[in-house]
Amino acid sequence: MSEISDFRSDTVTRPTPGMRRAMAEAAVGDDVLGDDPTVQELETLAAGIVGKEAALFVPSGTMGNSVAVKAWTRELEEVIVEARSHIFNMESTHLTFISRVTPRPLGSRRGAMDPDEVEANIRKPSVHIPETSLVCVENTHNNWSGAVLPLANLKALRSVADKHQIRIHMDGARIFNASTASGIPVKDYAALSDSVMFCLSKGLSAPVGSMLAGPRDFIDYARRIRKALGGGMRQAGVLAAPGLIALTEMVGRLGQDHARAKKLASAIAGLPGVKLDPADVETNIIIFGLSHPRVSIAEFIAGLRKKRILALALSGGVRFVTHKDIDDEDVERAISAFKEILA
Ligand SMILES: *Cc1c(COP(=O)(O)O)cnc(C)c1O
Repeated sequence: MSEISDFRSDTVTRPTPGMRRAMAEAAVGDDVLGDDPTVQELETLAAGIVGKEAALFVPSGTMGNSVAVKAWTRELEEVIVEARSHIFNMESTHLTFISRVTPRPLGSRRGAMDPDEVEANIRKPSVHIPETSLVCVENTHNNWSGAVLPLANLKALRSVADKHQIRIHMDGARIFNASTASGIPVKDYAALSDSVMFCLSKGLSAPVGSMLAGPRDFIDYARRIRKALGGGMRQAGVLAAPGLIALTEMVGRLGQDHARAKKLASAIAGLPGVKLDPADVETNIIIFGLSHPRVSIAEFIAGLRKKRILALALSGGVRFVTHKDIDDEDVERAISAFKEILA
């Protein structure tokens, strides 16, 4: 347990001592000139893990998603997104700002869009109408409490996309959490999308960075877009080195985060004002509604803060995320705090 139990996000994870050492010792070159060996090693490893031809190291998940959308689309086109998705809600409108395409948000069942509804929303262009060129899916789904997308749903979406010759991009920021929870290899998820982005800097604990993977010509083009957006990095081997550790040493421990999230969810589900079905907590994210007769959400968050426990307020609810720097003692402290504040 550290001094503060920080449940706000798995992005708060600190690099491990091994990552710090790897950063200090990393072999580097100039990655924009194409000769940083550590970045190349990371890109090769990442592509192999998700079973794609090539991969690109990007500074953030948001840049990975924005580069992917830009590479797959042109102006006067439309992109189908899930209504609560990160890409649609949390990435500062890069669909319109960078790619200049229209988002078409659709509802879902815990992140899984209905394939028939997706098909019905694929638009054929006319002088009035944009052409649908891309569908974005999110696995795990952050705003649906870390829900894992069912493989059958992704397969059905793939059939629809193939029938209409459009692309699928997977925002797999937490694809390793999905795989850990379901037992389905990340390759099997990635095989159902044309491109996949995943984060090294969340539960995998690297300080910075995400990977975008896909066909080689797509990644070659994505590399040019990354440079245009200012994402070309020079001696980036110092950042890729902890990314290699993230992929080789940190995936195996994600199950612990899931077990702790389940434990916390089960303990708080019956408390006054908490609206939560513990069965909805499949991975490391707990989102619950809070409507208590005496305690507002802001008061709840402030009460936790006094006890040196941090969580994020959402509209109508609260988010807790478990990760490497949350241990059993942090979970116990949080459970006691819930009981005291909501008594
Ligand atoms: C965090 C996150 C991203 C983007 O990550 P940043 O590195 O913060 O830009 C994308 N998608 C999902 C689902 C995320 O949770």
